[in-house]
Amino acid sequence: NGEEVQSQDYLFKIVLIGDSAVGKSNLLARFARDEFYSNSKSTIGVEFQTQKMDIDGKEVKAQIWDTAGQERFRAVTSAYYRGAVGALVVYDISRRPTFDSIGRWLNELHTHSDMNVVTILVGNKKDLEDCREVSTAEGQALAEAQGLFFMETSALDSSNVAAAFETVVKEIYDILS
Ligand code: GDP
Ligand code: MG
Repeated sequence: NGEEVQSQDYLFKIVLIGDSAVGKSNLLARFARDEFYSNSKSTIGVEFQTQKMDIDGKEVKAQIWDTAGQERFRAVTSAYYRGAVGALVVYDISRRPTFDSIGRWLNELHTHSDMNVVTILVGNKKDLEDCREVSTAEGQALAEAQGLFFMETSALDSSNVAAAFETVVKEIYDILS
């Protein structure tokens, strides 16, 4: 029907990448369903979720892909990246090795998708301030060096979760419209 055709006008594929257990599935669960799972097993199996958003009065659909645990085996497939116009590259501010992996994830993203994919670097678990291993300044500096947006989030307490997704979707919309 007509409504369906119109709502297909803007459909943006966005991928979530980053090391295992940084909170990718929970960022999506918080954004799309306002849910949080303290046990990560409950989030395995989701392929993607489509979230309607309002950008400048236009209905935009973000089709957000989750790895469903493939990254544990370093087996995120090229199909996962295909057609992506946005990416959230996520690390855990309480585990430095997940920040050290960001370069590898950016390489993988650029190998499998367009160089112009709108990307935000996301330092998740900002609620874990007491066990922080990566400073905000370090995250910011890496993002600036790589030309990425940057935000620290918490899927647990919801802070900046919607803002992180909206930053990417708004930028894609601005570029494409
Ligand atoms: P994924 O492997 O990157 O998809 O990570 P998950 O979303 O499965 O989360 C891994 C673990 O971190 C789970 O136990 C979550 O409950 C926990 N977690 C995710 N996001 C946050 C957060 O913002 N703060 C805290 N404290 N824990 C989180
Ligand atoms: Mg997951």
